[in-house]
Amino acid sequence: MGATGPERLAGQGLDPNQEESGNRAILELLTGSDGQAWTDFVATCRVAGDGSAVYEAWARRGMVRWERQVAAGGGYEYVVVETIGENPLGQQDHRALATLAQELAAAGDPGDVQQAYVAHGRLTYPHAYERISQLFDSPNAPDLVVNSESYAFGLQPGQHGNLDVIQSRSPLVFSGPGVKSGAMVECESRQIDIAPTIARLINFPLIDGRDSTGRTSSERGAAPDVYLRRQDGAVLEDVLDAATGAPERVYLLLLDGQSHTELLHRLESESGSIPNLRRLVAAGVMLRYGSITNFPSITWPSHNAIGTGCWSGHHDIVNPSYYLRERREVISPQGRQFETGVCLSPEVETLFEAFHRVFGDWDGDKGAFTASIIEPCTRGADHATLERRLIGDRAQLIALTQETQEEINPRWKDELEEHGHRMMGEIDNRGLAQARQLFIDHSHPAPMFVYHEFSQPDAAAHDYGPHHEGARAALDETDVRIGHILRLLESEGLFASTLFVITTDHGMATQDVSLKANAARIPERAGMAAVTTEPLVYLRDLDVAIEVAHDGRTANVVVLDNDVDMTGTKPPVARAALLVSDHRDGRVASAATDTQGIAGFVIPADLRASELRLSVRAEGFNPRHLLLDGTNLAVDLRAALYGTAEAR
Ligand SMILES: [Zn+2]
Repeated sequence: MGATGPERLAGQGLDPNQEESGNRAILELLTGSDGQAWTDFVATCRVAGDGSAVYEAWARRGMVRWERQVAAGGGYEYVVVETIGENPLGQQDHRALATLAQELAAAGDPGDVQQAYVAHGRLTYPHAYERISQLFDSPNAPDLVVNSESYAFGLQPGQHGNLDVIQSRSPLVFSGPGVKSGAMVECESRQIDIAPTIARLINFPLIDGRDSTGRTSSERGAAPDVYLRRQDGAVLEDVLDAATGAPERVYLLLLDGQSHTELLHRLESESGSIPNLRRLVAAGVMLRYGSITNFPSITWPSHNAIGTGCWSGHHDIVNPSYYLRERREVISPQGRQFETGVCLSPEVETLFEAFHRVFGDWDGDKGAFTASIIEPCTRGADHATLERRLIGDRAQLIALTQETQEEINPRWKDELEEHGHRMMGEIDNRGLAQARQLFIDHSHPAPMFVYHEFSQPDAAAHDYGPHHEGARAALDETDVRIGHILRLLESEGLFASTLFVITTDHGMATQDVSLKANAARIPERAGMAAVTTEPLVYLRDLDVAIEVAHDGRTANVVVLDNDVDMTGTKPPVARAALLVSDHRDGRVASAATDTQGIAGFVIPADLRASELRLSVRAEGFNPRHLLLDGTNLAVDLRAALYGTAEAR
């Protein structure tokens, strides 16, 4: 079968009108002085005029281009069609740097863990082709995505968002009926595999839904073979053990931003620490190499990838903030935090919705009752903190909140006030109270599915650094909260029938804050017209169509905004300045577009159209330079970066 480009092409990636600006941006990102210090690679999807597409990643050390194809055995496969120099995505081992010792060794074993900076040469990029390609399936996807060096982003000692194994690895533990007990398994996992695995364990029926290629079972000529309306992931067969029974409910504990290597280190080297997590791990199955998150490896996209079994390029919350081209508007689900379920694509199904589809809507004491606690994946949950749907008596909730208030470590207030994180501990304490109330309150069934976010590990790792003692103290405090939940479920007689899942939404890497780095902003800072929502870059470009009359004596140019608007058409750009010059850069003609975006000019009788170049400039857009036959005058990235000729 042939190459399969973006699913819903609506401006994402670089089209032919963006060859010049796209190449210029990539060159700035890689060769400017900041770019050299900060940028690891830049990825894009190059879309040809006929809609065919090839994916690309560019780094100073080399580049790779690949195609996505439907695989004979199902799903996609990725075929490399070109490399120059070192393939920047060539190392994809998911097992790399899976322990704290390995991670610190990759950083050169600095005496100070706050300087555990790992450069690209020591990193791997698990599932790189799949994770980059999926992003460009969403109309909300950018033109370029910038992967900075793992230690070079922002002003906080801990960060994430990148494709690499440190920032993209989450711990993953299943504990309870239906899974192996006391086991460490070596299998590979992606965070999109969690939802199908839960669905299998809770005995959802297989349905005629869409797989990772976007086609339903029947469209693929298969019997119903997925558990969710869309299912990019697959069941993690290696964790299952039917001999241990079947769970009646699932409690997903999400320790936001918790480093896998830190968790593993504490479990293996500090006996008696984090006793409640330790208890669940000891009784369950842990994946030695963790599980690989969404790309970008950031909270809102990653939580929803876990909750839907779909990559962010399919559930459409592609980043904490992203640009809606048609609306010319940046939206920030992670910034507004509340009521973001509407941003999720209607084409995907959350686990909450699936539980209700299978077991019925909650109605009095009937149906499935589901809860999303402080959790960014909300759609379909009966109780959803971040949709302001709180089930239960408010006075009781306040009393429960106060009961555990003293468990908040006072150091957060003392040490983090200047970071604006005075709420640290408070939010998770409220979440704990909500969780307890949902199981104490017998006016509704006990929750059949809980997705519970613990924000404190993330906040502490950002503010202190992932290997700092402060981040460990945050995990200790989180473990105390988990202990409350385990004891309550025991006292309610629900513990033994509950499957617990422990994971995170992304990893966390130590940052060199002295760099004050923000690679994705480089094109804008270089004066390019772009919308930047790190790590995504959306270029603002002109669609230029040139028509030379048959006699070669006149030409007509139409200039449009390259992004369609709400009407689905590209609006004309008025007052664009056109300058026609010959190859000696002598001015031949100039004109400005009218309100229809149209301009015409005369070609002198002694000049051939193919020898003339046109520049087009308009306020708010990147300039275009073309030959009058329509050929883009773009920088040749292969020549500029590697001194090689364009491959054709
Ligand atoms: Zn997070």
